[in-house]
Amino acid sequence: MLEQVKRKAAEPAQTLDGHAIEVAANIANERDAREAVRCGADSVGLLRSEFLFIDRESAPTRAEQQVAYQAVLDAMAGRSAIMRTLDVGGDKDVPYLTLPPEDNPALGLRGVRSGFARPALLDDQLAALLATRPASKLRILLPMVADVADLLRVKTRLTELAAEMGVDELPQLGVMIEVPSAAMLADQLAEHADFLSIGTNDLTQYTLARDRCNPELAAGLDHMHPALLRLIAQTTAGAAKHGRWVGVCGAMASDLEAAPVLIGLGVTELSVSPGLVPELKARVRALDLAMCRREVQPLLQLASAAEVRARAREIWPQA
Ligand code: PEP
Ligand code: MG
Repeated sequence: MLEQVKRKAAEPAQTLDGHAIEVAANIANERDAREAVRCGADSVGLLRSEFLFIDRESAPTRAEQQVAYQAVLDAMAGRSAIMRTLDVGGDKDVPYLTLPPEDNPALGLRGVRSGFARPALLDDQLAALLATRPASKLRILLPMVADVADLLRVKTRLTELAAEMGVDELPQLGVMIEVPSAAMLADQLAEHADFLSIGTNDLTQYTLARDRCNPELAAGLDHMHPALLRLIAQTTAGAAKHGRWVGVCGAMASDLEAAPVLIGLGVTELSVSPGLVPELKARVRALDLAMCRREVQPLLQLASAAEVRARAREIWPQA
């Protein structure tokens, strides 16, 4: 069985009723990109660009960043890669950015907000991404977007930089859905973004108001909570209005029990650590999309994550 799973890993994953689900990899650098290809990932669903910025004395230059992004895209050998702009601030501290200490870091200068606070930093990263080739295989993803104003602020700057650099083919631009407001406004965001990618780690933390870094709260921090399912349903419905696709790059994508739930809710891309790609593809191949769509709806009416999990196990038992 295991050998068969590995052998089939490089092939695309389709549900029993013939719908393709993209199984992508979460990576942090070029070495991970090579591992993702070896494990059969269809693409990179999330490059956390923080790796370039931490453990050093000053920010990487545009040129340094460009070399690193190009190396990742080259390693993907023709597959596409979603690269997320810097997601520091909050608990992810980078001393040389001299962001002010905050009382509530999780609600502070995080993600795109740290880029707004340090515009040169955001400019350098966007310019390095714009110089990465081919643009058709690159997708830029923005973390911690709360509403359309956040998205348009970056989109405008991206367009200006492209004009300054004489770049006429722009990479696709996507938004992470990891703040409840973004899920609620997914239809508005999808009007201006090319795709949406749900960060279930933060979306769970912010929806349930449970700090993801507090071990005492970990037991109740379950992405199968019906509140999360409703926000995911709202996200896919909003995206569908504008013909955009929705992926999941948070830990919920790696939860094999959650796969039929996410697919049933309309998610078409799942991004996980490279080593999990073969198993997730095998799981997708055992599911029927029409049945997932039908069975998932009553789960939204349940009252707790435990009830959702118990019911999901009955409906979609794992071999
Ligand atoms: C998430 O929040 O789900 C996510 C993928 O981002 P990170 O874990 O890097 O905050
Ligand atoms: Mg996040």
